[in-house]
Amino acid sequence: SLDTLDLKSLVRTIPDYPKPGIMFRDITTLIGHADGFRAAIRRLAAPYEGEKIDAVAGIEARGFIVGGAVADRLGCGFIPIRKKGKLPWRAVGQDYQLEYGTDIIEMHEDAVKPGERVLIVDDLIATGGTAEAAVKLIKLVGGEVAGAAFVIDLPELGGVAKLSAHGVRSHALIA
Ligand code: 5GP
Repeated sequence: SLDTLDLKSLVRTIPDYPKPGIMFRDITTLIGHADGFRAAIRRLAAPYEGEKIDAVAGIEARGFIVGGAVADRLGCGFIPIRKKGKLPWRAVGQDYQLEYGTDIIEMHEDAVKPGERVLIVDDLIATGGTAEAAVKLIKLVGGEVAGAAFVIDLPELGGVAKLSAHGVRSHALIA
């Protein structure tokens, strides 16, 4: 049943992708499995059912797939957080650290109204740099971060602890 389904067994691990030494967690096998996808969306949304959530913010690109479905489940709107230069309207940006160099994510400046409560959703948290940048963007425009939900956590990389230092609670379905 959906409640007991083992999601970890539906994730494919690909060695040496995109570079030698990286073990890439491929969620296409999970989201391609009807019950796996449904179970994942339910478990991501579960802690927030019955809470006031104004929007889900999903991070490009796999965060759009799971975040859109979580927004539907919670009955709220969806906000795309995108790589620099992809959004059509005025945007606020935040840089964050990559292994080599930095990158920038952006959100429309009017996507969140002051006081609105936003749930961040992404497929995976590693160092937490991407999710931390999303937290900063939401706070910059006066929003409140209700929490952060991930399909996969790589706990040894410290991402959940990094969000916790910003007062943001997180949960992940697979560690
Ligand atoms: P972080 O900023 O936490 O170090 O990295 C998380 C971001 O990188 C997420 O947006 C996630 O989609 C992507 N990412 C990093 N490693 C993996 C991986 O092994 N599998 C997947 N699916 N995404 C990854």
